[in-house]
Amino acid sequence: MAMEGLAERLAVVRARIRRAAERARRDPGLIRLLAVSKIFPAEAIQEAYGLGLREFGENYVQEFEGKAPLVSALAGARFHLIGHLQSNKAARAAELFQVVQTLDSAKLARRLNEAARPLDVMLEVKLSQEEAKSGVDPAGVPALIASVRACANLRLRGLMTMPPWSEDPEAPRECFRRLRELAEAHGLSELSMGMSNDLETAIEEGSTCVRVGTALFGKRRKG
Ligand SMILES: *Cc1c(COP(=O)(O)O)cnc(C)c1O
Repeated sequence: MAMEGLAERLAVVRARIRRAAERARRDPGLIRLLAVSKIFPAEAIQEAYGLGLREFGENYVQEFEGKAPLVSALAGARFHLIGHLQSNKAARAAELFQVVQTLDSAKLARRLNEAARPLDVMLEVKLSQEEAKSGVDPAGVPALIASVRACANLRLRGLMTMPPWSEDPEAPRECFRRLRELAEAHGLSELSMGMSNDLETAIEEGSTCVRVGTALFGKRRKG
């Protein structure tokens, strides 16, 4: 399995986060490293947990359903849903995850709220014109914030975005900056942005949560 070397790769990622934070004169302790374990088996989560990681990102409710029994006993581990969520899977998602980062409609907020358990949420904002991307348009953010704040079980932590993939780590800078400005305008403190390829750019623009898959676990096999 590709897990060999996880400790070394984790050290490299932590050093990248630290250096970027220093450059930006930010406290690296305030930047959460979310280990994105999609496609990889539960053992990858267990090994990462053994190395001190506590926050994990998964993309699919159904895939995580299979892993959850093997990782739910890991004390202090938190699981974030970072993939698109259909409202018919909201109840299940609210049981499996501690954080849903991809809230993008009032309907989904209602469904998650009805699951009747406290849940941290972030709004996924669509900052590019790319067709396939989910997320709420920036113009729709104020209304969605109001909807979420009316839901007693949902605690709104911040905003998340996923820019179009680019080899150039500088390419998403404008997206990241806009997300930060949007969060500031609404008094939200958490910013989930930055992945393996562009985490430095995201940290320079204020990220409080980088979502890292490939740089930790290696290349994912195509599904
Ligand atoms: C897969 C994924 C990541 C991790 O991407 P890497 O480039 O492998 O670090 C981060 N965020 C989301 C939403 C993802 O789907």
